Amino acid sequence: MGKRMIIEAPAKINLILDIKGKRPDGYHELETVMHQISLADRIILNPCASGIKLGINSGLVPYNESNLAYRAASVFFQKNGFKGGIEIFIEKNIPVGAGLAGGSTDAAAVLLGINEIYEYNLSEELLLEMAAELGSDVPFCVLGSSALARGRGEILTPLPSAVSLAIVLVKPDFQLSTAEVYSKFELAKVEQFPDTRAFLAAWGRGDVEDIAVNMVNVLESVSIRIHPEIAVIKERLKELGALNAVMSGSGPSVFGIFKERKGAAQAAETLRKWYSEVYLVSSYKRGDYDGKKEIIAGRP
Ligand code: ATP
Repeated sequence: MGKRMIIEAPAKINLILDIKGKRPDGYHELETVMHQISLADRIILNPCASGIKLGINSGLVPYNESNLAYRAASVFFQKNGFKGGIEIFIEKNIPVGAGLAGGSTDAAAVLLGINEIYEYNLSEELLLEMAAELGSDVPFCVLGSSALARGRGEILTPLPSAVSLAIVLVKPDFQLSTAEVYSKFELAKVEQFPDTRAFLAAWGRGDVEDIAVNMVNVLESVSIRIHPEIAVIKERLKELGALNAVMSGSGPSVFGIFKERKGAAQAAETLRKWYSEVYLVSSYKRGDYDGKKEIIAGRP
């Protein structure tokens, strides 16, 4: 039996998010750049004789088989005819229902962790296939760092770690349902679309100002209608010196990119007067960029 293992499960933000239309299967065709940040859950895995046991230090996430971390272990065991067991403890640091892929990153950490702890040595391709079954954001979380994601999120192009960003993240004290935001999305109501090419060119140059200027999230057109406070947070971040500020995923978290860590720290301190959940974070890097072109997680 393998040894106990502690894995970091970082949150992601969406630096750009565009919707290209609706697919025949009901999902939206996405084009988004996902970026892992230094705000992470900790997943503690303990091999045991049989079954999947779950522990968690938060009352905000399901404490049963529907927990994404539990589902990840279950899918891993089923696919690989596994007979042993695992104890999973989740130390939740990532705000829940916040557009930060908290559940998805826990699931990815469990897949990666079981693969290592029990020395399965499954290929990245097989891990990504299981990830795609668990949810749209899980393949990216398996891959890590930064990537352009298309389709439902399963067509991934890894991006080099061009820059380390200074980020202030604000999670207002309400949640937004991803399903509700997507179901209310209307292309006609979008005021600004991202220019993905321009963003990627700025990323390639490592030009923080240009990266920030090109950040756009079309889902703001829905989320701000439901919660106008999101627009207020964006404005406050910009007034406090952010080069730009946008919502992450389907919200409600909003983040601002700063030129330097010092300015970000000052802005975070001011924002703490109004919001109880303000995080001063930076880019999270996992592994070395190996120049992979495009990866498709699971069968199309
Ligand atoms: P995404 O950005 O991927 O749409 P999110 O960050 O908006 O996700 P999550 O924090 O992943 O939202 O939570 C979404 C839902 O998933 C919540 O209703 C939560 O109860 C459920 N969930 C299941 N397992 C987990 C987990 N391990 N951690 C967080 N949420 C979980």
